Amino acid sequence: TAKQQGKAGFVRYAEGMGEPVLAHMQLGGELRRALDNDEFRVVYQPIMRLGDNRLVGVEALVRWHHPARGVVGPAEFIPAAERTGLIVPLGRFVLRETCRQAAAWLAEFGPDALREAGLNVSARQLHDPDFVAEVAGALADSGLPCERLVLEVTESAVLRGQQVSRALYELDRMGIRLALDDFGTGESSLSLLRAFPAAIVKLDKSFVDGIEIDDGHPGAADARQAVARAVIQLAHALKLDTVAEGIESPEQVATLRELGYTLGQGYHLAQPMTADGVSRLLARQAAAAPVGP
Ligand code: C2E
Ligand code: MG
Ligand code: MG
Ligand code: MG
Repeated sequence: TAKQQGKAGFVRYAEGMGEPVLAHMQLGGELRRALDNDEFRVVYQPIMRLGDNRLVGVEALVRWHHPARGVVGPAEFIPAAERTGLIVPLGRFVLRETCRQAAAWLAEFGPDALREAGLNVSARQLHDPDFVAEVAGALADSGLPCERLVLEVTESAVLRGQQVSRALYELDRMGIRLALDDFGTGESSLSLLRAFPAAIVKLDKSFVDGIEIDDGHPGAADARQAVARAVIQLAHALKLDTVAEGIESPEQVATLRELGYTLGQGYHLAQPMTADGVSRLLARQAAAAPVGP
């Protein structure tokens, strides 16, 4: 159990573990110390073109390199960071680091190698009156063109309040691309798409899981395919890009391609990796083939 593995009830990070396991108060203090101590790192998960496995983008994902407990995943501390407000300075770090890194890739590999870099933004950050200015500052300081930055927000974050929608409209006006993350899991996905300046929808992993299992009987897989099909039809009609999340098998790739998906993300395509790992992928890609459209 978690208790046996970590002194303070932490579990060493493993994909799929999702429960916050340390008392919130204590975790708040730990996070503050960790921020001062530079213990957070950003890894990047490639977003790939499903037709030819070419890297088109990355999503930045934060990790906590705890001196005693090892690498801790965001599910363990993002909720506490949101509650304590520490998500604001932590999110600022991820934003600045991602912009800096994306600008470095752009300089090293050219404009066609990596189209964009995305990062996750929580509701608390969107409520911060300084957020839009911080994004503008991170872009200006890094030299990253605004159209190469993607900010991923969830439906529940978008739905929380006036200040949020004003920030989103300002970011959209600046030319930053907004992605609706975990799409389809919220309560009002469809009306939200109409009201929100999204450029990208990310089909949630829960619709990708089991999507390939087609035994000819109406059942769970058919329902997931129906959702995935409805989402892509809607996205086409509204001229939005789509990314299918959490792809774990070649069969899922095949099914998603049949449904019309062209971009995907998931362990089967590429794991989250360090910036150096992405650089190696980009170098290999540049050596292997001339850049296509
Ligand atoms: P998300 O934005 O939906 O990110 C995708 C999550 O799915 C990542 O988990 C990624 O490692 C995982 N994943 C990718 N492919 C697969 C797959 O094939 N199978 C499975 N089982 N999982 C896959 P991670 O890194 O643990 O992040 C979890 C969530 O934490 C993210 O979900 C996002 O909501 C949040 N998060 C991560 N980094 C940040 C951050 O810097 N700021 C904020 N506010 N939230 C973050
Ligand atoms: Mg995301
Ligand atoms: Mg997601
Ligand atoms: Mg998700």
